[in-house]
Amino acid sequence: MNELELWTADLFHEGSPGSSNDALLTNGTIILDIGSLHDLQHSYPNAKPIWKGAYLGVPLVNSHTHLDLGYAKTFRGPFDEFIRYVISLSGQRGLDAAASAFGKVPQSIVGDIASRPEVVDWWLLETRGSGVVYWEVLGLLPPEKENELLQLTRSRLERWKSMEKSGGPQIGLSPHAPYSLSPSLMIGLVELAHDMGLPLQIHAAESPAEHDFFVRRTGPLYDLFKSQGWPVDMHPKGLSPVAYLADIGALGEQVTLVHGVQVNEEDVRIISQFGSRLVSCPRSNEHLGAGLPPYDLYKKHNVNISLGTDSIASAPSLDVRDELKFLAKHGYDMAETVTWAAGNAYHNLSLPPVTFSPGDPISKLEIW
Ligand SMILES: [Zn+2]
Repeated sequence: MNELELWTADLFHEGSPGSSNDALLTNGTIILDIGSLHDLQHSYPNAKPIWKGAYLGVPLVNSHTHLDLGYAKTFRGPFDEFIRYVISLSGQRGLDAAASAFGKVPQSIVGDIASRPEVVDWWLLETRGSGVVYWEVLGLLPPEKENELLQLTRSRLERWKSMEKSGGPQIGLSPHAPYSLSPSLMIGLVELAHDMGLPLQIHAAESPAEHDFFVRRTGPLYDLFKSQGWPVDMHPKGLSPVAYLADIGALGEQVTLVHGVQVNEEDVRIISQFGSRLVSCPRSNEHLGAGLPPYDLYKKHNVNISLGTDSIASAPSLDVRDELKFLAKHGYDMAETVTWAAGNAYHNLSLPPVTFSPGDPISKLEIW
């Protein structure tokens, strides 16, 4: 038998919140025991203590990105200009960009938003990653076109659902954002996902411009709609984006909201009441001048928070650890935020929880 070692790190995370364990006993192959370093040293006085680095625990998850924007240069500026910028990138989105970006994501478990069918096929058939690939749908369409789009979406999702493999990537659905879909298309897609048992990600309450569009019909997003000739009267005026989603019946336990920055306590209370969750992408929010979400409110109302990078179009890297470092600079304790990027993230992507226990191989651990 190999020599016994006691492994510890600056951050130790078993996947479940609230544990005070900070070390494990191993023979170099298998986890033999888990506990506090103090207790394990007492129980195994001959085991050699080894500090493994910054982190030892369950694998981190990048809960939200758009790999098919992988060829983009990183943008910094106002939200309406960012939308124009992303529209201008349409021709370069696709499989090559996604595969290129995948090579730059250190995490192998990802929540990816895909806007091209070949990217979903690639996720389900070829990548060695896992997580959820969310098929993105948006449109401000007349009713007959909406019905066509819903039928096409259903047939695509049924095909992709049949391609899922155990332990491999799962299929999800992303109705893009409250402002980019009519109420009827949003609710049709949410009902479709509900019928099929699929997880959802919806961008919501990201920028002040989105808030002003919904509440007052003013601001840069409203001006963008007007300048592009997009309909500005499809959505009820006066509700916040979160209150609007609740009002049309689009929130629920399968729904993870992405961003959730421009919210007040009533919005957070609504998200909590429906059992919906939050993916936060703080560096992307900073790049687009949105500020940071009120994390304390989300915690107060027991909303499950996880972290994503968003795409390379609005974040300087696709490594979710850089979100931890960014939040640490803003005063957030990494011992807490690492639980958002690990244990909480599995719940937000509707994946089975991941933990480790004695008898598991050490290959199950992430160490850095
Ligand atoms: Zn996004």
